[in-house]
Amino acid sequence: MIAIIIHGGAGKWPEDKYAHAKAGCEAARDAAYRLLRDGASALDAVEEALRLLEDDPLFNAGTGSHPNAAGEIEMDAILVDGAARRFGAVAAIQKVQHPISVARRVMEATPHCLLAGSGATRFAREQGFPEYAEELLRAGETASPAQDTVGAVALDTQGRIAAGTSTGGTANKLPGRVGDSPIFGCGAYANGLAGASATGVGEDLMRVMMARSVVDAACVDPDPCRAARCGVRLLDEIHGAGGVICLRREGSVGFACNTPAMAVAFIDGQGTRASFVKL
Ligand code: ASP
Repeated sequence: MIAIIIHGGAGKWPEDKYAHAKAGCEAARDAAYRLLRDGASALDAVEEALRLLEDDPLFNAGTGSHPNAAGEIEMDAILVDGAARRFGAVAAIQKVQHPISVARRVMEATPHCLLAGSGATRFAREQGFPEYAEELLRAGETASPAQDTVGAVALDTQGRIAAGTSTGGTANKLPGRVGDSPIFGCGAYANGLAGASATGVGEDLMRVMMARSVVDAACVDPDPCRAARCGVRLLDEIHGAGGVICLRREGSVGFACNTPAMAVAFIDGQGTRASFVKL
């Protein structure tokens, strides 16, 4: 059995962007699904989905990242291998096209889990990731904390679950600010039974350890939608804003948010496929 669920961020998606957001998430979902069908690992599927979304300037990740208050782009990403209980992450990395792939390299080629700032960027260069100038497409935007981070959770034919998240962070953040996305258990988490990827205001999501809380709920509740809603209830308690996607080992998927919109696309273990922007 295989399954994949993608998010393109929770926040205030403008209605004129719904079609593009949906199409972007569907394209990433379908590419990941094809890989899974051909026997690729859940890690490969999540990485590929997030690379595609990092290349789509609509989303706040990779090429479309929001600049910080100094007008620079600093990106965060994490890739979690639920079966092996390991992860790699980068925080405040600059000038790379695919932060998710650098996160994977941290996991696979170093004894570390998380590299930050200039060290992360230097590591990327040393590993052969070329210098990349993101488009600064959003340079004109002001302080609105628009959230359109990307994330994915996949289940492969061997029953392994992987989860990942990639973001440019909140618009106009202070230089050096790191959100939930690269923090294990906050922006993404997976174990042998379930996986989750979060989106929203990172400062809120970290306070409730969003992804870990949802996976814990999904381990004891067969309905991943209910597990996702559990996480959103925790956010509600602190008046936080965000959303989460979740997948269980038997191929069921769930999602929830308390923001006006969230972009989601999935194909579950039964082959049911769907995509939405507004929930
Ligand atoms: N959670 C991300 C952050 O705070 C933003 C987002 O999900 O859009 O960096």
